[in-house]
Amino acid sequence: MTKIYFFGECMVELRELDDATMGQSFAGDVYNSAVYMKRCFANITVAMVTAIGRDRLSEKMLTRFKREELDTQFVFQHPSKVPGMYFIETDSAGERRFTYWRNDSAAKKVVQFLNDDVVEQLTAADMFFFSGIPLAIIDEDSRDAFWQKLECLKLAGVKLVFDPNYRAQLWVSKDDAIAQFNKAFHLSDIALPGVEDLSVLYGIKSAQEAIDFCQQYNLEEVVVKDGPKSVITLTGTERHSHQITPVTNVVDTTSAGDAFNGVYLGARLSGKNVFDAVQLGAKAAGTVIQHPGAIAPLVAFKQAMSE
Ligand code: ADP
Repeated sequence: MTKIYFFGECMVELRELDDATMGQSFAGDVYNSAVYMKRCFANITVAMVTAIGRDRLSEKMLTRFKREELDTQFVFQHPSKVPGMYFIETDSAGERRFTYWRNDSAAKKVVQFLNDDVVEQLTAADMFFFSGIPLAIIDEDSRDAFWQKLECLKLAGVKLVFDPNYRAQLWVSKDDAIAQFNKAFHLSDIALPGVEDLSVLYGIKSAQEAIDFCQQYNLEEVVVKDGPKSVITLTGTERHSHQITPVTNVVDTTSAGDAFNGVYLGARLSGKNVFDAVQLGAKAAGTVIQHPGAIAPLVAFKQAMSE
């Protein structure tokens, strides 16, 4: 059976429903991608590799993973840490603002659970997906170990997939992020960057420039996302620009890129060509942005994807 691991952090999401009530859900970039992949490709084993706690919210998170039919074999439960959390609000200008409590989250410790035995088991996967967010949050003194484990996976034939997803506030400096991202680009087989992420770090202005930038690495497949403007792909030496049908009724763009990633990779793992995979990924992203929050309701999402 085809299998992919999503490595990173899922957080507790809080959102104000009215003056006195908070709505609570779970989200986080790699988790969002995992959910959308599994919803579209039931026959792929989609697994989370993360650390949560043993508290009530961690248990609820684990239940949520299972409800989304994610494999939880490598969801580790730290004895004393709890999950990260964020509060999302929309200000009077309609801009989203996030307040995070994640500096001491269980997921920062995930690398310590990846012993040789676990890494050996992870080599059973076809793909291992990670983003710039887990790179930023894992303890600094576990970074070297993390890169060594990734090298083991690559040597065993697991395809490494990287989405930079740059979040400035998670890094001590731009240089630190650039150094870690360079390692990620060097080691990865597939990259799925957004133009915006590369623009802040490398001064890249367009999707074409982003593709040029990626060509310095040994990537077999590059997919550059540029919002509603376009998606540009590079497979081997073949470069293609794909048209995206803009959505007029945009409610909340949270997790557009995550949905795209999950569904694009699911399509590729299922044998679809790059053109069809881009269109499916874009359809999923275009659906998700018509709903508030990172995770669109299951029924509405499945309905839209079947049309
Ligand atoms: P990110 O969410 O990582 O910043 P993008 O903004 O590039 O990534 O969006 C990811 C994908 O979401 C795009 O490749 C596109 O398929 C889809 N998308 C984003 N905005 C729109 C839009 N306004 N209309 C239609 N599709 C969109």
